Amino acid sequence: MSNHYDIIIVGTGAGGGTLAYRLAQSGKKILILERGPFMPREKDNWNTKVVFGSDRYHNPEVWYDKDGKEIHPGMSYFVGGNTKVYGAALFRLREKDFEKFQHRDGVSPEWPLKYKDFEPYYVEAEKLYQVHGNSGEDPTEPFRSQEFPYPAVSHEPRIEEVSDSLKFQGLKPYHTPVGIRLNEAQAYLSQCIRCNTCDGYPCLVQAKSDAEISAVRPAMAQQNVTLLTEAHVLKLHTSPSGREISSVVVEMRDPQSGQTQVQQFSGDVVVLACGAINSSVVMLRSANEQHPTGLANSSDLVGRNFMKHVLGSIIGVSKKPNPTLFQKTLSVNDFYWGETGYEYPMGQIQTLGKVSKEALEGNAAAYAPLTPEEVASHSIDWWLTVEDLPDFNNRVRVESDKIILEYTENNSESYDRLEQRWIEILKSIECGQSIMPNCSYFAGSGKTFTGRLPIDGVGHQVGTCRFGEDPKTSVLDLNCRAHDIDNLYVVDGSFFCSSGAVNPTLTIIANALRVGDHLIERMK
Ligand SMILES: Cc1cc2nc3c(=O)[nH]c(=O)nc-3n(C[C@H](O)[C@H](O)[C@H](O)COP(=O)(O)OP(=O)(O)OC[C@H]3O[C@@H](n4cnc5c(N)ncnc54)[C@H](O)[C@@H]3O)c2cc1C
Repeated sequence: MSNHYDIIIVGTGAGGGTLAYRLAQSGKKILILERGPFMPREKDNWNTKVVFGSDRYHNPEVWYDKDGKEIHPGMSYFVGGNTKVYGAALFRLREKDFEKFQHRDGVSPEWPLKYKDFEPYYVEAEKLYQVHGNSGEDPTEPFRSQEFPYPAVSHEPRIEEVSDSLKFQGLKPYHTPVGIRLNEAQAYLSQCIRCNTCDGYPCLVQAKSDAEISAVRPAMAQQNVTLLTEAHVLKLHTSPSGREISSVVVEMRDPQSGQTQVQQFSGDVVVLACGAINSSVVMLRSANEQHPTGLANSSDLVGRNFMKHVLGSIIGVSKKPNPTLFQKTLSVNDFYWGETGYEYPMGQIQTLGKVSKEALEGNAAAYAPLTPEEVASHSIDWWLTVEDLPDFNNRVRVESDKIILEYTENNSESYDRLEQRWIEILKSIECGQSIMPNCSYFAGSGKTFTGRLPIDGVGHQVGTCRFGEDPKTSVLDLNCRAHDIDNLYVVDGSFFCSSGAVNPTLTIIANALRVGDHLIERMK
């Protein structure tokens, strides 16, 4: 087998998987390298203790924070990447998210491309990932040239009640756009206890629109596409001029024996799509004579401006039971740009996948005198997202084999204000008898938190190789090609200039389709 390909894509998540889908029809010889295996389909996919309390679906690797404390990032290294466990809430950024905007703690910078440049690709992304939503409800909704491809997933009765109460308060709750393969889900509805819209769980019935199901598998149906799993890219070599990637160094693991061997591949074009943190890690670890501080790092920006959103999750317990199965159907953007008396953006609120008693048991003391069962049966569970501003000093660094995340939170006041405001509203609609932090994400890990996600929660990582026109102030050009290296692209969350305050994945998918069109042109 020749080790040379027209294009090599490293990583199969939202960015890499979608790009492979786009390029598969081109007839070009494509190699996809993925460090993980396929996610096993097994009953444990829905076992809360296994999902949240073990490393079965997460990598146990340890990173370090700026003070040398351990971070347990719980990344999912599988075909499909982190989309195997994501909640599939697939939002577009708002038009103003692409513009310069003043926040409490600084400026959210302007993007070199605008919403209108992404809009046609958002349309395609929503079709490919079967996004269900209703236009006209969200007061901050950006312009759309086409309706959602599928109608919104309707609220179950208890969430419908909450939606009505919020409307009565003058708010404008709307249906969360979710990527769900509803035909698959319907067939299993009676058995499905943790279906598509449940954050953190792999979907046993493959009804979640994740990158494996929506993009990688269709791409693999083409004969010109080869996928190698358990193929961990260690570094990239450059030609003597330093202007091209000459080879990709891969540690291949034999799943039967567990033995590893190092192989090299070459490609006319090489795309890193390892996620915003790991793409930077590969580039920094590939430092050589021509690129002494890391590949394509003449701007000193590789790994910098790391953003992950200021995130939190709270549980509101009410007197009424909440038997909802598919809870992730409601969002509120009324405070996205702030509120009267607070001129800065605050952020977004959405329901989470329903927490279960098993997910809370690891932190039972935090819920006393209520039992985890009482909390889970009567709670509505909320996810709060606030924009994290790019900061030159918030960065991914490598030190020999260590990965270090130097990060200081910003916009904390905006988060506190959003949380306080939401707690008041929950109390006023009788959904806040008790308000508690949602510890389910870290159940069993011994970690507790106050509602705010600790640094370990890096699911929304973006921004470490921002794109732009000026090689001094950006790592990638407008096509996501490295300014310094002619055949190197980065196609994952790395290219973001700011994070907005909605979940990032639809923008990563839309961008991968956009870059895919450029690559098809380039390779003609
Ligand atoms: C619990 C959870 C819930 C979430 N819910 C939502 C949601 O509802 N909506 C939303 O928009 N987003 C959500 N997200 C975020 C979403 O998962 C990410 O935005 C998205 O997966 C990022 O896509 P990516 O292509 O940048 O990276 P990833 O999806 O992480 O893909 C990177 C891929 O590269 C592979 N890889 C990494 N390093 C190497 C290497 N050196 N060699 C070879 N392969 C490598 C990885 O195994 C992986 O397959 C959630 C995340 C989590 C963890």
